Amino acid sequence: MKIFEVAYPLNHKPAAEELISAAARSCGVPAKKIVRCDIVRRSLDARGQLVYRYQVRAQMEGDEPAKEYRFDYKNVASARPVIIIGGGPAGMFAALKLLERGLKPVILERGKDVHSRKRDIAAISVKGTVNPESNYCFGEGGAGTFSDGKLYTRSNKRGDVYEVLHQMVAFGAPESIITDARPHIGSDILPRMVEGIRECITSHGGEYHFEARVTDIKPLSAGGRWEVICDGGLTFKADDVILATGHSARDIYKLFDTRGWALEAKDFALGVRAEHPQSLINRIQYHGRWQPGIPPAEYYLAEQVEGHGVFSFCMCPGGILVPSTTETGSLVLNGMSNSQRNGTLANAGMVVQVSAADVPEYSRYGTFALLEFQREVEQKMFAFSNSLHAPAQRMVDFCRGRESASLPKSSYTAGTTAAPLHELLPPFIADRLRKAFVLFDRKMKGYYTNDALLLACESRTSSPVRIPRDPNTLQHASLPGLYPCGEGAGYAGGIVSSALDGIAVANVI
Ligand SMILES: Cc1cc2nc3c(=O)[nH]c(=O)nc-3n(C[C@H](O)[C@H](O)[C@H](O)COP(=O)(O)OP(=O)(O)OC[C@H]3O[C@@H](n4cnc5c(N)ncnc54)[C@H](O)[C@@H]3O)c2cc1C
Repeated sequence: MKIFEVAYPLNHKPAAEELISAAARSCGVPAKKIVRCDIVRRSLDARGQLVYRYQVRAQMEGDEPAKEYRFDYKNVASARPVIIIGGGPAGMFAALKLLERGLKPVILERGKDVHSRKRDIAAISVKGTVNPESNYCFGEGGAGTFSDGKLYTRSNKRGDVYEVLHQMVAFGAPESIITDARPHIGSDILPRMVEGIRECITSHGGEYHFEARVTDIKPLSAGGRWEVICDGGLTFKADDVILATGHSARDIYKLFDTRGWALEAKDFALGVRAEHPQSLINRIQYHGRWQPGIPPAEYYLAEQVEGHGVFSFCMCPGGILVPSTTETGSLVLNGMSNSQRNGTLANAGMVVQVSAADVPEYSRYGTFALLEFQREVEQKMFAFSNSLHAPAQRMVDFCRGRESASLPKSSYTAGTTAAPLHELLPPFIADRLRKAFVLFDRKMKGYYTNDALLLACESRTSSPVRIPRDPNTLQHASLPGLYPCGEGAGYAGGIVSSALDGIAVANVI
């Protein structure tokens, strides 16, 4: 098996024979000795003339064929149950792996099925009301269902990324995610994929329970038998419980605290969402050569400001901004897009790394110091207009410390209000952001502009708390049979890594 690279113009899709000829030239073997060629990766190269670069795997005579992904789900109706709390990527992919291994997943999800969830999500922007059980973070498919669906993780450190991608394709994601260097799915496709996964799980004997918020988890024996209790009294028992509740399930952290179970504070990042015209980002990143048919440009920026990290997070080209809080009286923004990414604006979280040392005044909250800081900033942003209207300011105005006389058009679905973000944000956050924006302009000339709008706040970048677990057994450090999993437990960040963590935990069980 040999891997080689070849480049073609954007509008040229190489045929099989063409790749075999290219492999013969590149690897110095006769074409007749090449059994087949497969594209393993396609990336857009904008450094010179715009081209697609292909990494191609050539299978020679006598080579083992490349791994094929096949998923053999067993009927588990009468198998040993494993309770999964949370139906996000970690919970869903744990469930699929349990089906392969012949165990019965029982998913308890506080939110609604994806179809009913859409109505609650629409109400957030239209009526300004947040259902604390059904919103952009809670409900079938978890926080990733109404998102940009970026699947950029390529590190196989946590498991086989391609296993996740092939499974997603089997449930309706476009095949291009397997080979694209920057794959994404989009919110017009994600809900269907999530429904397909549920149908697979239930048709093989697994269980899904919606509107089943877990309020208590009780050990029934020292060896690891558990009782899980939902709102309304519904209870479930099992030897193994996967806790995959995401970074916004603050009640689960409180439950751990009440029960005296170990938790740790964890650094996270907080800041704003920056929104630029997509045409400007295209011009900067493609050096003025963007043309229709080419994917809208992305960016990733990072700087150290006086020893502290400031970076872009979850950039959404052609996307929209949405209110993704889970609580009433609090304001959080995040980005999502459809598969075409054809909106006219580009948004990204622009965030500052926050550790306990940055907020000594919160030390009285112990393990929850960063969580309380996060909550208070979110409440302060809501309180500014006592609504989900996001406090907003133009970028240069923010850096110069003056309020914006007018605001540019924003994609944020719940509306914006002009605000002095330079005063409203915690001073160390505002200060580091201000310095970083000017530095970012050196990397992307034109990024620092008053045509860019800043909206506050972006605060749910990752969990500010970690649930410790044994690195080998993946069980909670002192609770056998309880498996903290995914982003909420602090072991993943993003859709793919959360899915991989779910698979890893299911494999251990
Ligand atoms: C708007 C938005 C856009 C995003 N865009 C991207 C992106 O483009 N790419 C990317 O990689 N990541 C993105 N993310 C982040 C990504 O969605 C998360 O990293 C990922 O979903 C985490 O997976 P998880 O399964 O660990 O947790 P979650 O997806 O948060 O799932 C946890 C589930 O647990 C349920 N739950 C919580 N508490 C309880 C309880 N007490 N009882 C029962 N159920 C409970 C919740 O309802 C939820 O469904 C985005 C997130 C948001 C909000």
